[in-house]
Amino acid sequence: MGISETNIVVIGAGIGGLAAGALLASEGASVTVLEAQLHAGGCAATFSRKGYRFEAGATVGCGFHAGGPMQELGRELGIVWPVEALPVAWQYRHDALCLDLVRSKADLLKRFPHSRDFWNEQEELSRLLWKLASGGLSWPPASLGDLGKLLRKGVSGLPGTARLLRFATKTAYDWLAAHRLDADQEFVRFIDAQLLISVQTTSRHASAVNAAIALDLPSSGAWRVHGGIGSIAELLAANIERNGGAVLYRKQVVRIDSIRRQIIGVETADGNAYAADMVLADLTPASLSLLVDSFDAATILRSKGPLPEWSAFMLYLGMDAGAVSSTGAGHLQITGSSGNLGEGNSIFVSCSSPHETDRAPEGLLAVTVSTHTRPQPWFAALEQSGDEYTQRKKAYAERVLDLMATQLPGVREAIRFIESATPVTWQRFTGRHRGFVGGYPQTSLFDVRDPSTGFDNMFLVGDSVFPGQSLPGVVTGARRAVELVRRVKRGNA
Ligand SMILES: Cc1cc2nc3c(=O)[nH]c(=O)nc-3n(C[C@H](O)[C@H](O)[C@H](O)COP(=O)(O)OP(=O)(O)OC[C@H]3O[C@@H](n4cnc5c(N)ncnc54)[C@H](O)[C@@H]3O)c2cc1C
Repeated sequence: MGISETNIVVIGAGIGGLAAGALLASEGASVTVLEAQLHAGGCAATFSRKGYRFEAGATVGCGFHAGGPMQELGRELGIVWPVEALPVAWQYRHDALCLDLVRSKADLLKRFPHSRDFWNEQEELSRLLWKLASGGLSWPPASLGDLGKLLRKGVSGLPGTARLLRFATKTAYDWLAAHRLDADQEFVRFIDAQLLISVQTTSRHASAVNAAIALDLPSSGAWRVHGGIGSIAELLAANIERNGGAVLYRKQVVRIDSIRRQIIGVETADGNAYAADMVLADLTPASLSLLVDSFDAATILRSKGPLPEWSAFMLYLGMDAGAVSSTGAGHLQITGSSGNLGEGNSIFVSCSSPHETDRAPEGLLAVTVSTHTRPQPWFAALEQSGDEYTQRKKAYAERVLDLMATQLPGVREAIRFIESATPVTWQRFTGRHRGFVGGYPQTSLFDVRDPSTGFDNMFLVGDSVFPGQSLPGVVTGARRAVELVRRVKRGNA
């Protein structure tokens, strides 16, 4: 039986599930995506409220550069992404420091001239990594064939590959120290702020290789997605349908049925059942484990890979355009005077453009603000009392607005609409157990999760599997799952 006669069920219409589903549908597979919510996109969705279209989580379009994972996916599926390159990827502010992060790194090199060699090395490494990642990454290797593929790519990339191997076991902090940058607190704080939003940890823990590609983001480019970032998921869903597949909403999968190591189908909350030859689960391992028997759940949870640590507290603001447009950047990263990160001490602010009339009423902007937060205290507060949880929500909103106001005076007065979201909200709207979002801390290249689940015909996609979070990250991971599906089908043929 080839791919074209295969009945594939995808659980979840996040970017990972949709990308894998679209690639398989384009090869002729019969793809059915079951999505619990009324819309696609998960953490990269856009939702409507009171005349605004807010980006729920992800706001920065990345990976759309020539040869980047999003550009390659679009070319392969015949999708023209509605994206526009931003002149400034984002602006970083800490007290009086204000840096425009642009392709040339002009501001960065002016403020930190002694970091030039570090950035040269970062560029060299990321060039090699993008090349290794092109067309998908067979990492972690599942077979001798995968190793052979990696070696062939590696040998063709010599002597850069040898250089890369030298970094493989180092932390980003070791790398900074090698350039004598570890003593420059301002520079380390800047790097840590970049790493927290990309690899979900700071330089002391982040793998140097992961850091190299994460720090490349402003250089490889940031894009505004017209209509909000949710347009990416909508286009992928439409592509699946154009290729004969189906994307069904309000279909929460509540059980996965199996016989020994074979999945035979899934059941949804509305009492329907769907037979499946193959299943792709766009879920965190913890969420997937809740849908299978306890013995299989233990296997899923025992698998290799770091555990997620973070969720996000969000503010969705409708604001007068004037209050934020003076920055000249669509995205603003602010770290507070304490120098601490997360929990309202650092925020990422993203504004719709005044030209996007479909995102906000005239003269107003749709603004998404996020800060990293640990999920556990939010659930503890909720378990204690509804009041405790509400008070915590209010306190975080105040903290975030205070920090915003340090760089954007008059911001409070400009607010016309406000809504917040917590790890509890993330759990409800993305089905991610305990609201963990943003992927896993990228601390090692060798301790990562692959798509296997312990079942022969079910694979994980999404930001829990290597190479982790972001649109280009989950698309690269989805290609890996698609490759494994093809391999199983070839084995069964
Ligand atoms: C605050 C925040 C900011 C971010 N910023 C950026 C950014 O600027 N740029 C960037 O590239 N990335 C960013 N990311 C990361 C990026 O959004 C994610 O890595 C990516 O979108 C995750 O995709 P996923 O495939 O893992 O699916 P998810 O987004 O987790 O979606 C899973 C989908 O499955 C559905 N589902 C869950 N359980 C079930 C079930 N039982 N049955 C049916 N359906 C189910 C959910 O409803 C959801 O639609 C950000 C993330 C967050 C949280």
